[in-house]
Amino acid sequence: MVMEVHLNDVVQLRKKHPCGSYEWRIMRVGADIGIQCLKCGRRVLLSRRIFEKRVKALVSQGRVSPYAGHRP
Ligand SMILES: [Zn+2]
Repeated sequence: MVMEVHLNDVVQLRKKHPCGSYEWRIMRVGADIGIQCLKCGRRVLLSRRIFEKRVKALVSQGRVSPYAGHRP
């Protein structure tokens, strides 16, 4: 699955984390994608290729969220 991701986007992975959650927040975007489990807070760094394989769906887009705007 080829997709564009942005900081603070929330994605659903195909496999559930040992803690029981499927949802992860994007923490870092670059050659590697850094994600953090929404439930247990675990952080994982994946190559973009592996990340795209593991993602099932985009749950919410951080950049369009009213809570993710720039602070003055
Ligand atoms: Zn977890």
